[in-house]
Order: sequence, then C-alpha cells, then structure tokens
Amino acid sequence: MSEGAVKKEEKPRRFQAIRGTRDLLPPETSQWNSVEQTAHEIFTTFGFGEIRPPVFESTELFARSVGMDTDIVSKEMYTIPDGDIEHIYGLRRSLVEWEIKFGDFRDAELFLGLVVTLLTFIKQAHEDDLTQFEDVGMEALADLTSAAKDLSDLISASSDSKDTETWNRLISLVDRIRLASDRLEIGEDMSLRPEATASVCRSYIEHGMQQLPQPVKLYYMGPMFRRERPQKGRYRQFYQIGAEVLGGSDAPAIDAEVIEMVMMFFDRLELQGVQLDLNSIGCRECRPKYVELLRAELLKVKDKLGPDSQRRIETNPLRVLDSKLESEQGIIATLPRIADHLCEACATHYAAVKHQLERRGVFFRENWRLVRGLDYYMRTTFEITAQGLGSQNAVCGGGRYDGLVELLGGPPTKGIGFAIGEDRLILSLQESGKAPAQLGRDVYIAWMGERAHATAIRAAKDLRKAGFSVELPPVEQKFGKALGQADKLGAKHALILGDNEVSEGLWTLKTLADGSQAKYTESDLIEHLRKSKSLSS
Ligand code: AMP
Repeated sequence: MSEGAVKKEEKPRRFQAIRGTRDLLPPETSQWNSVEQTAHEIFTTFGFGEIRPPVFESTELFARSVGMDTDIVSKEMYTIPDGDIEHIYGLRRSLVEWEIKFGDFRDAELFLGLVVTLLTFIKQAHEDDLTQFEDVGMEALADLTSAAKDLSDLISASSDSKDTETWNRLISLVDRIRLASDRLEIGEDMSLRPEATASVCRSYIEHGMQQLPQPVKLYYMGPMFRRERPQKGRYRQFYQIGAEVLGGSDAPAIDAEVIEMVMMFFDRLELQGVQLDLNSIGCRECRPKYVELLRAELLKVKDKLGPDSQRRIETNPLRVLDSKLESEQGIIATLPRIADHLCEACATHYAAVKHQLERRGVFFRENWRLVRGLDYYMRTTFEITAQGLGSQNAVCGGGRYDGLVELLGGPPTKGIGFAIGEDRLILSLQESGKAPAQLGRDVYIAWMGERAHATAIRAAKDLRKAGFSVELPPVEQKFGKALGQADKLGAKHALILGDNEVSEGLWTLKTLADGSQAKYTESDLIEHLRKSKSLSS
C-alpha cells in the first residue's frame, strides 16, 4: 500500500475543548468585556487598584490558606506534574534520606553515584531552560559540586581503607552533600489557582504592602481552576472577579462598603433578582464554643440525619447547616443559631455592619445558616444570589479573614473580600434577556478595480482611525455580491468605490437599512458617519 493510501484511511483526531472548559466566542465575548469594563470603572471609583497575580502558585500556598481538608485542595486542584523535575525531587529526597550506614567504600560509591546523577539532571534542566532552574541557588550548587569532587577523590585514593581518619572525612563529606542538596532551590509543586485570595495575600506579604497606606484595596479578574463535576453554571475553568481589602482596621464600615461596591456593580449591570444573605460566624474565641454546642446537639439527632451530615458531625459540623436535603430541613431549623452565641465583640461588630449597610441603603437578609467551612474566615460572611441560575445560583461569596495573612507568614493583618463568579453572572444576565451586542460593522467597503482598491485601503485606514468598524474585502467582487455580503455581516453602510467615484473624488455611501444612498467627499463622509452613529446610539 502506498503512503498516500495509508494517509487517506487515517482520520485525524477531532479535538474538543476538555470537559468542564469551553470557548467564549463573539458576540458573547463583547458582553464579557463590557461586564469587566464596568467592574474596572466601579471598583476604581471605590479606590481599588488592579492586581494580576500568576495563575499558578506553590501548591503549599493553597494547602495552607484554603485548607488541606477542603474539597478544593484535597480533590479539585490541578497540580502540575513535570517528569524531569519529579525525578530531581526524588533524587534529592534519596540523598537527604540516605539511611544506609556506610559499611565500606562501595556504599560511598553508590552514594556518589546518586550525587552525580542529581548534578547531571540539574545541569540538563539548566540547558533545557526549565524556568524553575534559573536560580538553583548557585552557592549550594557549587558546594554540592565541590563536595562531590572531594568524595570522588577520597574514594579513589583510599579504596577499602578503613582507618578512622578517612572514615571521619567520608562521613563529614556525606553531611556536607546532604546539607548542600537540601539548600538547592529546585522549585516546588505548583498548582493552577482554585481561587485568588491566597495569591493576593501572598503578594501583599511578598511586596511589603504593609508599608503602604492602609488598607490596601485590590481587585482582580481572571480564570480559576477546580476539578469539579461540570454542570450548568459549574465549570472546571471558570472566571472570577474579586476584590480584597487588606490591612488597617476591621471597622464595620469597611465590610459594609465592600458589600455596597458589589451591589452597585450588580445594579449597574441591571442584574435581576439579586438577593444578599448576611451572617456573622464569630471569631476564634466564640466560634469553637458554638461548634461544640452544635456538635452536641447534632449528636442527639444523629440517627435522623443522612450519611453526609452524620460524617460532618465529626469533621465540620458547620457544614451540616449547608445541607439541602429535604428530610434534614426540619431538624436544622431547631439547631442553635450562631447569632445567639457570638462573643460581645463579634455581636457588636455584626450589629454595626448591619447598621452600616442600612445607612448605605443596601438590603440584606440575615441567614444564620450561611457558613464558611474554612478556619480563617471570621465574623462577616455574605453570599449573593441572582435569578435564572437553577441550583448553582450563588454569584458572589465573600467574608472577613483577619487571620489569613498571618497564617501565610505575614504580619497580623485584617482582611475582607469577595469573589464573583463571572460565568454565572453573565448567564444570569442572558437569562433575563440581556443579549450580547451583535458584532456589526459600521462600513463595508465594496470596491472594484485596482485604483479603487488603493483608495479603499486608504479609506479603511482613515475610517478605522476615526473609530469606525470597517470590513475591507481582500479581493475584488461584483457590487451586487459585495452588497449581499455587507447585508449578511449586518453592516450599517456600504461604501461603494468604483472608477467613477475615484476620479470624481465623490464616494457613494449606501445606508443598508433603507437602501438610500448619497455622495460625499472623503471628509464629509466621516462627518456624516459620526452624526448617524451618534443618532443611533
Ligand atoms: P468561592 O470561591 O467558592 O467562594 O466561589 C465564589 C463564586 O465563584 C461562587 O459564588 C460562584 O459564583 C463562582 N464559582 C465557584 N466555583 C465555580 C465553578 N466551578 N464554576 C463556575 N463558577 C464558580
């Protein structure tokens, strides 16, 4: 069979976007842009500046902040594997953990073999330009290389000799090697970010933002990644628009202003059916006591609960309050409520937040069952739902997290923030009839002849400079076909350029909606288009 025949039979694979991810396409993307533009505008009026952290970070950052025991970290993170690097981690681990008592010099040779392989891999990684290896820690690398050379010299000079001095030198060289390899900065596990609060806090610490006037107000937008079961409004790559207020005080007016900002944003977008739920989940003082009380009460009714809730009595009783199980609702209604068990400071703070919201004309519903399962969340917690989203109807979640920056190695810092699910926000806008703007053209240039083409290119350039959207067909077509094409693209006008127009210096502009046409000089044309655009908008 000839090669050609083989090729014919092989059908190339048709690729599809990976499950839980999707393409955002025009014209929908214009709606995304306009939502994002509105966020930029509103957040700026509240004094927030944009931060763009990387989309991947050290896995440990998320493990520490979001929490090892959460679904997000334990099941849903995309951790980035890398064959070579994994291998290097493994080698280093073997060196550090080398447990064999050196019985004779053959053990030392094995050990040296490991060191040499590690050095070779690092050298290769350098050559392959793997970015983590840009800065391996040059001093540690030099120490490791020289200790390996000393070890090699020692082995060849004294094979099998076991005098105490040689032996001691061998042991101290092994220690030197372990220490140096431990100091190598060969990068670490990375994960795609499942959320951005941890990154913002990391950045606040890394850039010493506590030196800036406090609080520091930052917002972000971009993709997040969680390996969740995809369904309507739930994706594995989804987008969040969020903001964080870090440092300064925990004045209730800060909580209220952050919430006011989100509500103003939703209001500007004319999001329908917006409902703000509010709660306080106490602090390190009062919450553990409440959790114990809740656990004790839950144990009394354990038999009536489903398996998930039964498990949560032990792991995280607050999560039982989240339950949507019909059969559990009656029981949950009788459980103790956190609002009745807040310490004095938290109760005062919560009352003041509510007062501050009322002052700002922000309507809310108190929802004592609104909890966040993560340890670092405290006091103010809120969630916003919108219409048209089915079961996944939360468009925004937020709360106070005063302990987080400290947990990540920074100074004690107050913090509050929120994250809006942009996919759901846009879905809700669409469900309520807000369609994305069609990607129309202002002008379609129908040209015929080489001279007209040159004029058409110039006209396109000038019109685009003036801000009009212009379609310039790359090859000549008959005017009838060109006008049909203009119609299909939803162009408002067709600019007709043939030999006559070029020699007269008068260009024909046809308005496609009513078929009317008139002739204009080049400068009059732009003026006319400006007027008709401002009339129609
Ligand atoms: P969280 O970071 O879990 O508090 O989520 C904040 C908001 O992000 C939620 O209210 C949702 O609107 C949105 N969100 C969270 N997970 C997803 C997902 N898998 N797909 C789409 N949106 C999500």
